[in-house]
Amino acid sequence: MKIGIRQRLIISFVLLAVIPIAVIMFSLGVTFAGMEKKVGTNPQQDPSEQIKEINNSIAIVIEDNYSFVEEYDRFYLELEPFISEYQLQVQIVDNKNLLLFDSQDRNASMKPANPDLVEVLESTRHGSSISRLFIYAFPITVSGEEKAKALVMFNPAVAPFNIFMDAIKGMVVSFGAGVLSFILLIILLTWYISRTILKPLAELNMATERIAKGDLEFNINYTNTDELGNFARSFESMRLQLNESLEKQKAIENARKELIASISHDLRTPIASIQGYVEGLQDGVAEDEETRNRYLSVIRAKTSQLNRQIEDLFEYSRFDAGQLRLRTEDVDSREILESILQEVELGHRDKGPSLRIVRPLPSANIQVDSQRLEQVMMNLLENAFRYVPEEGLVTVRSWVGDGDLIVSIEDNGPGIPGTHLSHIFNSFFRGEKSRSRKSGGTGLGLAICRHIIEAHAGRIWVESKEGEGSTFFFSIPIK
Ligand code: ADP
Repeated sequence: MKIGIRQRLIISFVLLAVIPIAVIMFSLGVTFAGMEKKVGTNPQQDPSEQIKEINNSIAIVIEDNYSFVEEYDRFYLELEPFISEYQLQVQIVDNKNLLLFDSQDRNASMKPANPDLVEVLESTRHGSSISRLFIYAFPITVSGEEKAKALVMFNPAVAPFNIFMDAIKGMVVSFGAGVLSFILLIILLTWYISRTILKPLAELNMATERIAKGDLEFNINYTNTDELGNFARSFESMRLQLNESLEKQKAIENARKELIASISHDLRTPIASIQGYVEGLQDGVAEDEETRNRYLSVIRAKTSQLNRQIEDLFEYSRFDAGQLRLRTEDVDSREILESILQEVELGHRDKGPSLRIVRPLPSANIQVDSQRLEQVMMNLLENAFRYVPEEGLVTVRSWVGDGDLIVSIEDNGPGIPGTHLSHIFNSFFRGEKSRSRKSGGTGLGLAICRHIIEAHAGRIWVESKEGEGSTFFFSIPIK
């Protein structure tokens, strides 16, 4: 069952109140049940009645034997049954507060009574009898004349007083048990609350401190399903997301650094080359027309390579800034593909790799930005022609399937290693090591194609086998 912090606190406080009360009630119950058992329902067993009876009997014995009250041993024998049964002390005091008899002092005769007890005796003079707790005083009347006072001091630990003592003891024990259970409960609940509330809070506090220091490599171990558990889980997922985005950021940062290094290298190479040829021309190294023309065509090729790289970078920075705006229009797929491909065919030279376009191209209504679509096609075709050998073949196909127009550009070039396949659409990914390659790409061409196709709600992918060639596919939804 799911118990939240609020319920837990309520239950704890209720237990704190209820359990000590229950312990006290139970203990008192046991005490009183014991007393009841002792007293029974017979009123004769009522301790106050019993004391009255004992005192009456003692008074009768004293009055009957008053004539020899000063003969200690003889008088003691008469009182002995009471003294030994109830362990009580009997004193008899005359009207001048002098002792006539003391069960515990053989030589007490004519000694003044204990001043503390005189007060009890004085009170007796005004009333018929008086009792303080465990001490009783009553007059001794012989032949209608009040001769003296008797003081009977009971032992509180002996019946009938022991029942009161038991009750008092029982009450003390009951309240003691209540207080003890209260203290134990406080210790127990403090431990429980600190374990279930303070410990996860401390863990979360530690987590925030570590995050503040930029350390995200830790785990929060609190797994309970309460409010704090939910909080800890949200915190943990926030940490994971932060970690992930931090790692992404690091990867992007590294990619950017690498990009700047490789772009500056890639831009410097054609510039250095152009500079060399221009200097050659200026210095008159190219003496004849043919060499000059060769120099100029190299300069031209290098300039367009530079142009392409700068275009790619410009384009990418626009995508990166989310500034890609498509100018879409409804077109017929055959018309747009034909217009792109016919241009390619026109520019295609007979020398070098061959181009095959599988016709007829399908006719379907698509909504595209024609310029962007051409950009994708040209990029894929350029790549294909760049990688196929001199006698290679590039084949373009298109068909309609599953509500999409699909275009494929297949080449029989070197293919793409399996480990590269999942990366080639990533920005700045280049299969070959930039330093040694001739192609002069920025690793942005396919990333730009992906951006464009995805902005058309389409998909772009590649199938390739090393040594056999690659086929790039893209799909555009049909309207
Ligand atoms: P670049 O502009 O540097 O060519 P691309 O994004 O167009 O960058 O391509 C990324 C990488 O994909 C290339 O460096 C290359 O390794 C691989 N690639 C792309 N097209 C082909 C292909 N037709 N055949 C083999 N590898 C290819």
